[in-house]
Amino acid sequence: MSFDSLGLSEQLLKSINKQGYTKPSPIQEQAIPAVLSGRDVMAAAQTGTGKTAGFTLPILEILSKGPKPKNNQVRALILTPTRELAAQVEHSVQTYGKNLELNSTVVFGGVKINPQIKRLHRGVDILVATPGRLLDLYNQKAVRFDQLEIFILDEADRMLDMGFIHDIRKVLAFLPKRRQNLMFSATFSNDIRKLAKTIINDPVEISVSPRNTTVESVKQWIHPVDKKEKSALLAYLIEENQWTQVLVFGRTKHGCDRLTRQLNTKGITSVAIHGNKSQNQRTRALADFKKGKVQVMVATDIAARGIDINQLPQVVNFDLPNVPEDYVHRIGRTGRAGSQGHAVSLVSADEVKQLSDIEHLIKQLLKRTLIDGFEPDHDVPITSLNKKIPKPKGAKNTSNNRTIKSKSNKNINNWKSKNKSNDGNKKRQGGNRSPRK
Ligand code: AMP
Repeated sequence: MSFDSLGLSEQLLKSINKQGYTKPSPIQEQAIPAVLSGRDVMAAAQTGTGKTAGFTLPILEILSKGPKPKNNQVRALILTPTRELAAQVEHSVQTYGKNLELNSTVVFGGVKINPQIKRLHRGVDILVATPGRLLDLYNQKAVRFDQLEIFILDEADRMLDMGFIHDIRKVLAFLPKRRQNLMFSATFSNDIRKLAKTIINDPVEISVSPRNTTVESVKQWIHPVDKKEKSALLAYLIEENQWTQVLVFGRTKHGCDRLTRQLNTKGITSVAIHGNKSQNQRTRALADFKKGKVQVMVATDIAARGIDINQLPQVVNFDLPNVPEDYVHRIGRTGRAGSQGHAVSLVSADEVKQLSDIEHLIKQLLKRTLIDGFEPDHDVPITSLNKKIPKPKGAKNTSNNRTIKSKSNKNINNWKSKNKSNDGNKKRQGGNRSPRK
């Protein structure tokens, strides 16, 4: 299938062409016509599947045909869980909408509110926002939704993990009842389905990524090691393997800062990115990492959400996540766009429960490799997968839930390897696009 047959205008096809995309990804093939038909859409898709263009392109198409927004009004609202993702999504809106007379802006916390109030004053076609700042702006009467046509909830699962449910409910309460709703989530847990029922009506359901499977193009293994040796082992691995761009996941903000200091002392340039950093620090850290100015970025799960760096070769789990689904999200940062990625986990004896949860979730034992000089004194027992693997809550007994190498995952990887993927590196913060003529 080509983009030409999806019902998009010449202007949008031109922008797509400029990005070098030759064919739509599976999510785009399904989501674009569904959104254009005016139906609500509920889509299960992880980052890396092309989901952003999957909803951005058709909403640009729809909005290009309607009336302009009045002062303080918004025609499409995209809610995202993190500032980084918000900025990235708005960058996509600007990129794909370049040839259309639509304007967009992004608002999130951690930066001054007044410039955002100013940008909203003349009305915007597409507003990308994180929930907290959006509520502040609404309470200050800086934004109104009488003209709202489309509401998009991106990464709904992460929204719930981050405790945004009350904020989402507040936002829903001030949106007009008649609107088109699109909801995207990497996984569809019972909680997400419950939330979906309060938002969407008779949706087209789309699924391109079987739940809780790990990307096939990622090689994964673990190094059992004692906790106190982890940072020395990480430094050793970086030097030994000459890793030049490594995304490292830590569990706590302080842990990330400490690790960054330890690596820097050893001459390995690194930055931390987490919720205690100001937005400017986060933006700068990400830019430096993307440009290759720093070798290592140490991040918490929340901060790393939405980071899209093409061909990120190496992901390291310095700590295993408490929530096993986060493991799947983390390793999804590598092996993107068809390139082979590596995901390594440093696992100490106190993380045996987390390891077991992950191995049950992905239904495989991770390969173990001991590194000379770093063999642990405290054993990491091998997970027993012989026991009946518990069915994920609410899951039907379908082949998608049983197998890792499912057909639809292969489709995604085929798409990734065949298509040039243009990176989202040129992230831009805030700012309306050039105003209408
Ligand atoms: P997303 O899942 O929206 O985060 O997108 C992942 C990456 O895929 C981004 O870098 C996009 O620029 C890229 N991408 C989106 N659609 C296509 C396509 N049809 N062909 C190739 N790359 C794409």
